[in-house]
Amino acid sequence: MKLLIQSFFLLLLNTMVSAQNNAEPLSVEPGVSQTLANSRSLMISDVQYKLDFIIPLDKSEAIDGKMQLIFSLSSVTQQLQLDFKQNPDKVKSIKVNGKQIAVDLRNEHLLIPQQYLRKKTNQIEVSFIAGNESLNRNTDYLYALFVPDHARTAFPCFDQPDLKAKFLLSLTVPKDWQVLANGKEKDSQNKGSQTTYHFANSDVLPTYLFSFTAGKYLQEQQTIAKQQFTFLHRETDSTKLRLSTDSIFMAHADAISFLESYTKIPFSFQKVGFVAIPDFQFGGMEHPGEVQYKASSLFLDEGATKDQFIARSNLISHETAHMWFGDLVTMKWFNDVWMKEVFANFMADKVTEKLMGAETFSLKFLQDHYPAAYGVDRTLGANPIRQQLDNLQDAGSMYGNIIYHKAPIMMRQLELLMGSDNFKLGVQEYLKKYTYNNATWNDLISIWSKYTRKDLYQWNKVWVNRPGRPVFDYKISYAGTTISSLKITQHAEMGGENLWPQVFTISLFYANGRKDLLVNMDAKEINVTGAAGLEKPLFVLFNADAMGYGLFPIDHEMEGRMFELEKPLQRASAYINAYENMLSGKSYNPLALLHLFTKGISMEKNEMNLKMLTNYINTIYWSFIMPKDRSAISETLEELLWRAMEQEFLPNNKKILFKTYQEIYLSNKAKSNIYKIWQSQQSPVGIRLTEDDFTSLALTIALKSDTPTSVLKVQKDRTTNIERKNRLTFLMPALSTNAQERNDFFNSLLDRKNRTKEAWVNNGLAYLNHPLRQQSSIVNLPKSLQILEEIQKTGDIFFPQSWLAAIFGSYQSAEAYQVVTDFLNANPNYNQKLKGKILQAADNLYRSQRIVGIKLKD
Ligand SMILES: [Zn+2]
Repeated sequence: MKLLIQSFFLLLLNTMVSAQNNAEPLSVEPGVSQTLANSRSLMISDVQYKLDFIIPLDKSEAIDGKMQLIFSLSSVTQQLQLDFKQNPDKVKSIKVNGKQIAVDLRNEHLLIPQQYLRKKTNQIEVSFIAGNESLNRNTDYLYALFVPDHARTAFPCFDQPDLKAKFLLSLTVPKDWQVLANGKEKDSQNKGSQTTYHFANSDVLPTYLFSFTAGKYLQEQQTIAKQQFTFLHRETDSTKLRLSTDSIFMAHADAISFLESYTKIPFSFQKVGFVAIPDFQFGGMEHPGEVQYKASSLFLDEGATKDQFIARSNLISHETAHMWFGDLVTMKWFNDVWMKEVFANFMADKVTEKLMGAETFSLKFLQDHYPAAYGVDRTLGANPIRQQLDNLQDAGSMYGNIIYHKAPIMMRQLELLMGSDNFKLGVQEYLKKYTYNNATWNDLISIWSKYTRKDLYQWNKVWVNRPGRPVFDYKISYAGTTISSLKITQHAEMGGENLWPQVFTISLFYANGRKDLLVNMDAKEINVTGAAGLEKPLFVLFNADAMGYGLFPIDHEMEGRMFELEKPLQRASAYINAYENMLSGKSYNPLALLHLFTKGISMEKNEMNLKMLTNYINTIYWSFIMPKDRSAISETLEELLWRAMEQEFLPNNKKILFKTYQEIYLSNKAKSNIYKIWQSQQSPVGIRLTEDDFTSLALTIALKSDTPTSVLKVQKDRTTNIERKNRLTFLMPALSTNAQERNDFFNSLLDRKNRTKEAWVNNGLAYLNHPLRQQSSIVNLPKSLQILEEIQKTGDIFFPQSWLAAIFGSYQSAEAYQVVTDFLNANPNYNQKLKGKILQAADNLYRSQRIVGIKLKD
């Protein structure tokens, strides 16, 4: 007791001293604090890592590592902290400027005492065991994935984005393995059962972009426009390979050529290389020379939909755009990670626009970004685009739909405000000025400000630094049969004084045509110029060009005519408005909207729109319709979908309707229908079902019938690819008919070693918490929240939110909502960013408490 009081006093004294004397050594804290990063970036420069890893065949054996770190110090005023998030026993020896020193590893930092350091060039040599946490070791392959701050788990380093370095790497691997890294492969030497590969010194990179992969891969090479491209993969399906390989290479070449011309800066890294990884955690990751992709996003078969083709081209363009945005010019600190993401998306969209034409592009932009951005921005857990980040260990929480989806919308509005030429000139100047260097969002804003007279700082304040969206209302007055005035107002959905200046179109529809009015919504209330004097329209469509952002009103006169609107973009905008209004308890209750959308399934012929419409039907059906109402309508809905599918003649649309049928069916008739299709492997006429489709059918059958084990076993025997087989084995207990077995599956996930395949975990959790299984799974909800902090600490950056979404995504009961409320009440000081993620994931659950069965006036 006495000791405690004493140390409390000491602590107080220390704080006082450090406040007075800034030469006081930096405290040694876990993670990488912004204070540590700032102090290091002031002192350290010219960083070169030389790294050698020896990778054994057996994934349970340790990886030996050797590192030589050379850097320059501008002054020596205190000890140096090298980041290494491991136990001290992982460090075998350490030498500083030729002298062996004792290992002192505290709070994730290897400490180098001041007396061993010198001004200018220093050299540190460390012999260590590499941490496995971010090396993704599988039986016969592994890949390093260090974003945002995991390099420090694998080897000692300065793990911050503004201490860029060159990496000279060698990998010793089992003899028949292939390798790929940032630098070009220089030479290789065989020795017994192993081969050592030496790579050329890398270009200048931040630690989060240093990466490599090694394993049993197949290698493909192509030379396009004098540039050699290397591609490693493990795909065995010859149809997928035949249909996909050339397109994958071409998509990279197209994206590079577009970006070179937009930025006026040639591709600046020594090589183009990429690898397709089964069950990769993200869509892709942009390491120069070794871009990693989720294999299933690259390899498409003949059953692929238009949506999947566009998504693949968009993904490749996104990762390629990072070579300029993020890789060549890097954010100074991870709070600006959204900048590289928004530019990657923005540029990928421009490539898509060029490939698909403006109309398809606008539709894709709307469908990709708006529902996802609203999905966070309307919630109680909404975050702004730019956030504060005190320690890099929390960088993962920066990622989410706001930076991936709201930021591109914001950027497109900004481009509109400045004019696309001025916007582009600013981007070019920014890239040129900060090439191979770091920059902040404010650096870019100040460059752009030279190219426009608009007040970008003011604009930035609301769009970038504040969360939320505006709600628009309108008042239309008539004098006889003509409009006398049309007023539009906006207010912040969550209250407060914020206004979102923006431009969008409203369309007035008449029996023989339409009139588009451009609205420059730069105030709280505006009078739409050009409206007065126009004839009274049949109905009005808000945000008809899908440029605006917020909750737009719905004109009930439109109703069923929604599906007859001429342009796919107008219809998509109408669907989104209707859905968002339902969620806000305005205009439609869930059952009414479900009925309305169902009318559209046989009328909507645009594939992307049909996909969105059926997704909405699926979500409303499972998340906002009471179970008893669901049973009452399921058979009718099944029949409507089946009939629409039979009458449809476009194969992809047919398949979308079939998939929706598969998602929603409940009746015995449908059960035997689906079982027959799966068992005989006979697709309905005009549809082509692939192995992946039959696997998904088997999983659905398991979820909805009484004898699932045999179905999944048979499907497993039918599957030839070993990774897909393993995935099924993993999912089987999550689909067991035995509730105890299912809950055991959940409990097994509390142990980290069972969570390594995060994509599988999310699949399993979604089946486990499917509305048909919630009665027995609801007991796991408290535990799934209690472990969230650990999920964040041990998992990849998207895992906390995907974990929450897979678990809470389709609950609607008051009991489930109570679990969330109780947890937040019991933890008033809970990590704010994680609390935000919980509130985001529980948004449908929260809304279903308020809108299910709501009575609305017509
Ligand atoms: Zn990205």
